[in-house]
Amino acid sequence: MEYEAVIGLEVHIQLLTKTKIFCSCSTDFGAPPNTHVCPVCMGMPGVLPVLNKKVVEYAIKLGLALGCKINKFSRFARKNYFYPDLPKGYQISQYELPILEGGGVEIYVDGEYKKIALERIHMEEDAGKTIHRPDGSYVDFNRAGVPLLEIVSKPVMHTPEEAGEYLRSLRRIVRYLGICDGNMEEGSLRCDANVSVRPKGETKLGTKTELKNMNSFRHVEKALEYEIERQIEVLEEGGKVEQQTRLWDEKQGVTKPMRSKEESFEYRYFPDPDLVPLIIDDEWIERVKSEIPELPRQKLERFVKEYGIKEEDARVLTEERTLADYFEEAAKGYKEPQTIANWILSELLGYLNKENKEIEDTPIKPKQIRELVELVDSGTISGKIAKSVFKEMYQTGKNPKKIVEEKGLVQITDRSALEKIVDEIIEKNPKAVEQYRSGKKNTIGFFVGQVMKATKGRANPKLVNEILSEKLEEK
Ligand SMILES: [Zn+2]
Repeated sequence: MEYEAVIGLEVHIQLLTKTKIFCSCSTDFGAPPNTHVCPVCMGMPGVLPVLNKKVVEYAIKLGLALGCKINKFSRFARKNYFYPDLPKGYQISQYELPILEGGGVEIYVDGEYKKIALERIHMEEDAGKTIHRPDGSYVDFNRAGVPLLEIVSKPVMHTPEEAGEYLRSLRRIVRYLGICDGNMEEGSLRCDANVSVRPKGETKLGTKTELKNMNSFRHVEKALEYEIERQIEVLEEGGKVEQQTRLWDEKQGVTKPMRSKEESFEYRYFPDPDLVPLIIDDEWIERVKSEIPELPRQKLERFVKEYGIKEEDARVLTEERTLADYFEEAAKGYKEPQTIANWILSELLGYLNKENKEIEDTPIKPKQIRELVELVDSGTISGKIAKSVFKEMYQTGKNPKKIVEEKGLVQITDRSALEKIVDEIIEKNPKAVEQYRSGKKNTIGFFVGQVMKATKGRANPKLVNEILSEKLEEK
C-alpha cells in the first residue's frame, strides 16, 4: 500500500525588539544569567504588564507580508502550566482571538511555487531557561518575557522537503522584514512538527505525533523522514500510531517518546485580566504597510526582468537581502549584470563559503567587483589573471587596479612583442612544430601553454592564437 504523510509546522520566532514584550528589560542574547530581569518578567505580585507597541507592529508586518487577515480586535490569554522557568505559573499568549489568521507561506519545490496555508499567528512571551548541571539545576530568566510570534501552518505539507522549504522561505521573509534574525542555534527560530500518515487517497487524517527538539532545518527534515518511516512501519504491521510527543535524538537519528509525565497539559486558558484587548486601526496598518520592503519573490522577479540575469542565479542572489543589495550595488550602471552575478556567485560566495563566512564579512567592496570586470573588458587583464587578482582582492581588500599595477599584470597586447616570444618557442620545439604541420592541429594547445608560461599568463590569448596559427602554417 502507498502512504501519504501529512505535516503541519509550529514555528516560534523571537522578535528583534530592544525590550521585552511586557516590560522594559533588554532582549540582548548572551548576557550573564538573570541580569535582564525586573519585577514584571520575574512575576512578582502586584505588578502589571504593559504591551510593547513594536511587537504589535512586527506582527502586523508579518501579517501583511504573508497575506493574513489582521484582526482589529484581539486579546491576550493566560496559558496556565507549572514549570520552574515560568515565574508567573502562566504564560501570556493569545488563544481564541489571535492577532493574525489565514494567509500563507510560498515555497518553491520541484520548479514550482506552492502556497502553504496558515492557520494563525499569535503573540506571546517566552519562558526562561532551565539549565541542568551535575551540581544542580539552574534557571535563567533573561529570556522570560522576550516577545515571540507563533506561526501555525495548516497540516498541508506532504514531504520533509516541503517542510524544509517552508522553513527556509519563512526565515527569508522574517529576515527581509527585519523582525527576526532567524538564528536557529541561538533559538531565535524554533520549530515543532506534527506529522501523521494515511493510505494514499484517504481524506481523513491519521493519528499524529508531535516532534520536538530539532535545532536546524536539516534536523527537522531528518526527524520527519524518520518519523514518517516509523509510522508507516507501525501501520504495516497492523498496529496503531499512538498520539504522543516525541523528541528528536540527533546523535542516534531517531525520535523517542517523551515521558508521559512531561506532556499533555491542560492549560486552562482564559483572557488575561491585566491586559486590555488590543485594538488596531486602519491608519496603523497603512503606516506599517508603507514600511514593508520589497520581499524575496518580488526581488527575484525584478532581478530577472531588470538585469536580465538567469532565474536560478537571481534565486540565490535574493536569498539574503544583504547579498541582493551587494549585487545591485556592484551591477550599478554596468552593461552586463550577468557577468557581475557570475563573479559574485562562483568566486565571492566560493571564498566566503570556504571560510564559513557571510556576505557581511566580505573584504571586497561591490564597486571593486565592477572595476575588476571592467579591467577585463578593456583588455587590461585577461580573464584568467582576473581570477588571481580577485584572490588578492579577497585577501587584502585592495583595489584591482592597484593590484594589477603593483604586480605588473597588465595584459601583453603588443603584437611584435608576442611574435618575438612565439618565434623563440617555435624555434625551441621543432618536434611539436612537425606534429602540427603533419596535421595534428590540437598541438596548438601546447604552444599556447608555452607562451602563457613565458609571459606568466599575461599574453592576450586571442592574439596568441592568431599569431601561432599564422606562424605554424608558414613553411
Ligand atoms: Zn522585565
